[in-house]
Amino acid sequence: MKKKISIFGSTGSIGNTTLNLLKDKGNYQLYILTANNNSKKIINLIKRFQPKIFIIFDFNTYLKIKKKFYKKNIIILNSKDYLNYRFKKSDISIAAIPGIAGLRPTLKLLEISKKILIANKESVICGWKLIQNISKKKKVQIIPIDSEHFSIMKLLQYENIQNLEKIYLTASGGPFLNFSKSKMKNIKPKQAINHPKWKMGKKISVDSATLMNKIFEVIEAHKLFDVDLKKIEILIHPQSLVHAILKFKNGIYKFIFFKHDMSIPIGNALFGEKFKYAYNSKLNSEIASNLEFLKVKKSKFPAIKLKPILNKYSSLPIILNAANEIFVDEFLKNNISFYSIISNLFELLKDKKIVKYAIKSSSNYKSILNIDEMVRKAAMKIAKKKRLKR
Ligand code: NDP
Repeated sequence: MKKKISIFGSTGSIGNTTLNLLKDKGNYQLYILTANNNSKKIINLIKRFQPKIFIIFDFNTYLKIKKKFYKKNIIILNSKDYLNYRFKKSDISIAAIPGIAGLRPTLKLLEISKKILIANKESVICGWKLIQNISKKKKVQIIPIDSEHFSIMKLLQYENIQNLEKIYLTASGGPFLNFSKSKMKNIKPKQAINHPKWKMGKKISVDSATLMNKIFEVIEAHKLFDVDLKKIEILIHPQSLVHAILKFKNGIYKFIFFKHDMSIPIGNALFGEKFKYAYNSKLNSEIASNLEFLKVKKSKFPAIKLKPILNKYSSLPIILNAANEIFVDEFLKNNISFYSIISNLFELLKDKKIVKYAIKSSSNYKSILNIDEMVRKAAMKIAKKKRLKR
């Protein structure tokens, strides 16, 4: 029988990479695809891949697509009906809806999947307890496909975690690594989403440029592998070829080296040992002798100052995520400067009301959303105060 594959966030960068890997494989059936509002891509995917079910989160887009494919052999669901729909089990699912918007769909995916490949780091950092509870109850295997976490998982495969001394997460440094202070002042959204190594969605690209992505990945690694935050360090590695380095108590370091191409972690997670990487990626002496690992400069990446306080409050990840989503969105709309994404975050953390929320526990979906909503309002107030004059 063909394996059922579901992709949540199918029109995005991770979705596209996954669909490209599946396109010539006969032994898979695309079961559920989801998208938000990109009608053109949704129509294209339905025609090209003929999934059984398409979930469309934006209601107007849902109505439009439902009308277009009326009487066709496809079930179109919206953001409400999918929650109660009786899906068959997917053999493998991919959770790739960015931001906190991805949490509810990821929880649903856990209910209806045997194995889940998680790209959506925001779900992990905000709702790990919920994810872990459902996955244990339903016996769902979780595989992280963020390249760093996929690498850590691989490196730990035959190791005793007790022997682990440090995890070094590598960061490319993004498009502004070599920008001077004066050039940093006038960064435009178009520049920030133009990552030098990875082709990704807008939100994660901006997070890579500010280094917030790496702060989230530190939390992600801490939750996924149950490793003390103090044992996780960040290193700038502009070549983006080594994705994580593990140091063991016996003096041995191990790292994983692969081309900056998400089809490698996704392909390996999807197909296991059967996966064959289609492109030539030679390791020659020129590449090997140019691998750099640099300390992160606080003046260049002020987000790094968050690292020592990450374990201060239990709900801090939800707060950082919600506020960052607002500030990134405001930056992408050209309302605030690139620099103020992080300075606004620090301003928000000074708010006593926010600290009160940060110490609250957030073990269920409703409490996570309550904190998220409250922080969004507070962040929006700050963003409005800091709007650029036009
Ligand atoms: P994209 O922005 O490229 O794609 C996002 C996908 O989610 C699209 O299908 C989009 O639909 C859908 N979507 C967006 N907003 C909503 C919403 N509010 N409700 C429902 N669906 C929504 O993102 P990426 O693929 O780059 O990233 C996805 C996740 O994977 C993120 O959490 C990111 O951090 C993580 N990740 C990504 C990597 C990458 O290389 N891209 C690497 C590692 C992790 P539509 O097109 O209709 O808007």
